[in-house]
Amino acid sequence: MKFATKAIHVGYDASEHGHAVMPPIYQTSAFAHEKLGEHLPFSYARTGTPTRAALEANLAALENAAHGLAFGSGMAAIDAVMRAVLKPGDEVVAQQDVYGGAYRLLTKVMTPAGVTVRFADLRDPSALAGLLSPKVKLLWLETPSNPLLSLVDVAALSAEAHRHQVTVAVDNTFATPYLQNPLDQGADIVVHSATKYLAGHSDVLLGLVAVNDPALYQAIRFIQSASGGVPGPQDCFLTLRGIKTLALRMERHCDNAERVAAWLVKQPGIEKVFYPGLPEHPGHALAARQMKRFGGIVTVYLKENTRDAAGRVAERLQLFALAESLGGVESLVNHSATMSHGAMPAELKQQLGVREGQLRLSIGIEDIDDILADLAQALAE
Ligand code: PLP
Repeated sequence: MKFATKAIHVGYDASEHGHAVMPPIYQTSAFAHEKLGEHLPFSYARTGTPTRAALEANLAALENAAHGLAFGSGMAAIDAVMRAVLKPGDEVVAQQDVYGGAYRLLTKVMTPAGVTVRFADLRDPSALAGLLSPKVKLLWLETPSNPLLSLVDVAALSAEAHRHQVTVAVDNTFATPYLQNPLDQGADIVVHSATKYLAGHSDVLLGLVAVNDPALYQAIRFIQSASGGVPGPQDCFLTLRGIKTLALRMERHCDNAERVAAWLVKQPGIEKVFYPGLPEHPGHALAARQMKRFGGIVTVYLKENTRDAAGRVAERLQLFALAESLGGVESLVNHSATMSHGAMPAELKQQLGVREGQLRLSIGIEDIDDILADLAQALAE
């Protein structure tokens, strides 16, 4: 079955739910037993509900995985993966330019819990070999990365990590399973902030994990149930509904972002455009190989590298909402230095190139003429 068909059909059998075409929202915390000790498919909503099970099976199909797991947010998903794989004394190697929330979790939660974290520039996969030791248990990747859209080679890094028995996790939020399937490229775990493109309408907070290995699945599922960072049935329903149009939306996001990136490189107020679809992007060849298309996020350096300049442009934009998130049908703009990456220390932001005069644009699926007109008026001198 092809992707767009799986997105609409897999994970839900209407004949088991009164023939309802859409998965019902099982708004219940518990399921009644008729006999003491009876085994039911669902017993208590923290361990599972039919609505959540439909979403978990659907995501597994989209990532070509054996198992899916749903969480109350992308961060709850990342937290569960790290707790399942790492114990005190272990080490994790993480790509240096990860989402600010993942950086905060690694440095402020995992480090005090006794895990050593090493951040590294992994754009050249040969950099990994020198960082691995028997203590390293997890390689944490995010590609394309938030907010500077750098690419890492999942196949090459996974092969090297596996030579040292290191588990590989990839945050696939920016690409979505429509554009990239990291498990097919050798990774062990895929994580999503489904809050973004998967749900797609800026109305849900939800995280997803996909894995093949049964032991990894059991370990993450144990944390899911033991810690209880699970989504409610309404949010599972909204995410399932969003996923039904993921293929259509991603094509339009990519069409629009390609046009926006090509237009922005010609604007006098713009110093640099980050978009994997541009031939000058250092990860362009890898993106062409690893991804189906180049995604819907475009990041820019303004010529005037100040917070004021970024604020002026962001506030002048009319269609683009100034918001923390991305991946919705509507265009959104984010000042990474103070918003998505506010948790990163200033020196690290400087080292990575996260600037004050920088904006991350999540290109929506509005008419491209209106998007370009809005950007033109906001950038006009
Ligand atoms: N991963 C990436 C790449 C993100 O951009 C985000 C949120 O912005 C997250 C994870 C965290 O997801 P959530 O906000 O759903 O907890």
